[in-house]
Amino acid sequence: MKYISTRGYEGKFTAQEAIILGIAPDGGLFVPESIPSLTDEDIEQMKNMRFCEMSARVLSKYLDDFSESELLEYTREAYSEEKWGEDPVPLVQLNSYNDREYILELWHGPTCAFKDVALQMLPHLMTASLKKTGENKKICILTATSGDTGKAALEGFKDLPGTEIIVFYPTGGVSEAQKLQMITTTGDNTHVVAVNGCFDDAQTGVKKIFADKEFNEELLKGGVKLSSANSINWGRLAPQIAYYVYSYVELLRQEKIEKGEAINIVVPTGNFGNILAAWFAKQMGIPVHRLICASNKNKVLCDFFSSGKYDRNRDFYKTTSPSMDILISSNLERLLFEITDGNSEQVKAWMQELNSEGVYKVDPQTLKRMQMLFVGGFADDTGVSKTILDVYDRTDNVVDTHTAVGFNIYNRYHQRSGDECKTVFASTASPFKFAPSVMDALRGDGYSKDKSIEELIEELSDESGLQIPEAIKNLSSKPILHKDVIDKEDMEAKVRSILLG
Ligand SMILES: *Cc1c(COP(=O)(O)O)cnc(C)c1O
Repeated sequence: MKYISTRGYEGKFTAQEAIILGIAPDGGLFVPESIPSLTDEDIEQMKNMRFCEMSARVLSKYLDDFSESELLEYTREAYSEEKWGEDPVPLVQLNSYNDREYILELWHGPTCAFKDVALQMLPHLMTASLKKTGENKKICILTATSGDTGKAALEGFKDLPGTEIIVFYPTGGVSEAQKLQMITTTGDNTHVVAVNGCFDDAQTGVKKIFADKEFNEELLKGGVKLSSANSINWGRLAPQIAYYVYSYVELLRQEKIEKGEAINIVVPTGNFGNILAAWFAKQMGIPVHRLICASNKNKVLCDFFSSGKYDRNRDFYKTTSPSMDILISSNLERLLFEITDGNSEQVKAWMQELNSEGVYKVDPQTLKRMQMLFVGGFADDTGVSKTILDVYDRTDNVVDTHTAVGFNIYNRYHQRSGDECKTVFASTASPFKFAPSVMDALRGDGYSKDKSIEELIEELSDESGLQIPEAIKNLSSKPILHKDVIDKEDMEAKVRSILLG
């Protein structure tokens, strides 16, 4: 299978080439030329498969320049019991007297966020792709993070031969625990730099560096090639499709649904990567009734799904769900391409408008197509806080601030629509990562104010009965190894000095 650009670049690429490049030469995103299907036989066989086996099967349909057994070798390592526990992505019924709601816990990996699922896999795909394509340059992973990508990518690529990794995070735009996790990262090839500004500044800066031809040539001369670990990289997105397939198969296995029975999937959304993976699962044949796209107060996607107008010209809010504080959701470009039946001219024009004016509007037909499947909604911090308490009271589950955005929007959707389909909630982070906000929700506003992060983590563990994950323990006693703070204008210079000295 070949990969093409959403913006119409005439060349085609193998999966391995697309993974190495990260972004298409014309600035578009790579998409598969056609979307593979899961056969009835696949689904039947999957009922006897573990998650790593299912992942290898799903991936083999997209990355056909790898064999399924090679992929299985990688998924076995990426999702090992040592790193994830026995069940890497447990699907848990929310409470015993309601068989409608299920939580898909995606945060049992090394950094306690769903991004680990893809970022434990991407390094395997990247190194194998380099080897197979005979690439002899050093690869530098360049990434902007709203908090969780950074640490997950650092852990995935740390000390991986032939790679460097540079992570830019916005000052103040990430939670204390997220920041501590990043700046205490060890490893000889890891670089973590704070950028004055918000996530979009950091992401735009990174995209500019990728698009700067001269600079990239200068780096190539120095023996370095840039690539991305953001969800703009297909090798980062594809592994996420597997856990939505897994959810469906798991519900079949547990006899909660009949074969072919459609489910809803609720995804707390920022860059639109995770929910797009759910969309690909649907296109492969997983029956999905609604995809519920949950936003926080930065509700650009919610407005888009109701009006068809994508408008980033608005105030930016820092919320208690910082990994979703995003105004430019990059992966929407892939959905637009698919939903317009591959109209790359149109997609390119919209993206140019977004770039120059900060706004574009899709035609009524495209909007209608999206509205048939997607439901948008948003919740502010007060709503999120209430929802955390409500879910805890109702079910004894403590969910993190991001996952709570999903619950908040679903609850209102469910009341309004009367839609009784079985529903899977993507739970995207461990509540320990956002312990201050979660404890405020459970004990009252301002509760966390004079407490240390360690204290709050302990209390959360007592309250929830959950064990404190290794990755979160003793965060503030680890040595701080990364102290650089720069302005967004200086990002390119920083990359130059790190890579070329
Ligand atoms: C990254 C992240 C999100 C948003 O996911 P996207 O793929 O960017 O839409 C939601 N919740 C958490 C905890 C995250 O880390």
